[in-house]
Amino acid sequence: MNLHNLRDKTEQVNFQKAVKQGLGRQQGLFFPDDITPLANLDALLKMNLVDRSTEILSHFIGGELSKQDIHSIVSKAFTFKAPVKQVTHNINALELFHGPTLAFKDFGARFMAQCLAQFKVDGRITILTATSGDTGAAVAHAFFKMDNIDVVILFPKGKISPLQEKLFCTLGGNITTVAIEGDFDDCQALVKQAFDDQALKDEIGLNSANSINISRLLAQMCYYFEAVAQLNEAQRKDLVISVPSGNFGNLTAGLFAKALGLPIKRFIAATNENDTVPRYLLTGEWTPTKTIATLSNAMDVSEPNNWPRIEALFKFKGWSLTDLGYGTLTDEDTKKALLELDNLGYLCEPHGAIAYHELTKQLKNHETGLFLCTAHPAKFKGSVESILKRDIYIPEELASRADLPLLSKQIPVDFKQIKNLLLSL
Ligand SMILES: *Cc1c(COP(=O)(O)O)cnc(C)c1O
Repeated sequence: MNLHNLRDKTEQVNFQKAVKQGLGRQQGLFFPDDITPLANLDALLKMNLVDRSTEILSHFIGGELSKQDIHSIVSKAFTFKAPVKQVTHNINALELFHGPTLAFKDFGARFMAQCLAQFKVDGRITILTATSGDTGAAVAHAFFKMDNIDVVILFPKGKISPLQEKLFCTLGGNITTVAIEGDFDDCQALVKQAFDDQALKDEIGLNSANSINISRLLAQMCYYFEAVAQLNEAQRKDLVISVPSGNFGNLTAGLFAKALGLPIKRFIAATNENDTVPRYLLTGEWTPTKTIATLSNAMDVSEPNNWPRIEALFKFKGWSLTDLGYGTLTDEDTKKALLELDNLGYLCEPHGAIAYHELTKQLKNHETGLFLCTAHPAKFKGSVESILKRDIYIPEELASRADLPLLSKQIPVDFKQIKNLLLSL
């Protein structure tokens, strides 16, 4: 697969290089030169997740990895299901939280980790990531116990939920977690400083594994096919998918699936009050405001880093942005949506509830709706229990780690100390 930098078309890379590099020059995103629709869609929809995903990914990266290698990567990465559950007569939920860290980010992070392992990179790789919760956990578990790969995760001390901290700060081995005495922006700034230090970058083989990595998007495409495969003929006819969005990687992956020929009539981009994209779609003006904290904190993003890919894809396909649905929900209305779902017998959490609400508002009579559930309700135990006024079930993946000791180091916002840590691994 050939890709180019959206900011500088003269920078051309293959898949392997794009995965290792993450971002191109001038912070440009990599984008495929060509997206040819799949020829054998009906046959693909009859396959199981691993076989089908192998075929879809071979379509993109078959020139660089054999089908056998891709099958091996996918079968190690996608070891859990993505079931579609019926919620109302014409609305279904796609549950993407059955992986080891209970959020959809497991799909992308595990696929990326297996790709890097397959490339057998010379020398060592150090993955350095800042997290406000879900990404760090997914990356830590995806790379845990891998040879020649060290993972360092910075998170703001005291600002992630206790259960979330237990999930990834108890692993040890090649996973180092650092509680930074600052906020998430401080963590991100430290990561950026490390990437600006060329000598350090070369010495330890720095990679960020963040959501702009092309491998994560390719992996995420696969569960849109898995969703459609679980629907019947009638449900596939006028399918509308609502995606809870923050950095817009998830929606980008869905749009790629549509570009490959998956029958999706339209998408809805659902956000919380960090609504840069909905306002842009309404007014044509890109005016990010200060990020505000909401109940759906994994979507508290006001400068979504995947958006340029969405614009590029619409242009490539000749689609119109006016066909992209959008909607924004306040915390108050998110609570109502969560309660409404609970009354329907479906336990959800704030991110999925936002997507559900926008779907109920925009779905027409003859259409079938699907909303993406991006995290397990237990990951947002505190807010879910206080909204529903009852205790919820904690799955084994979380419960089993609750008594393990936290292994994080504590470091102030001081790049020198981070650099020393990175060099000492
Ligand atoms: C990361 C995340 C999102 C946002 O996904 P994007 O791809 O960044 O738009 C939504 N929900 C949950 C639970 C997440 O962890």
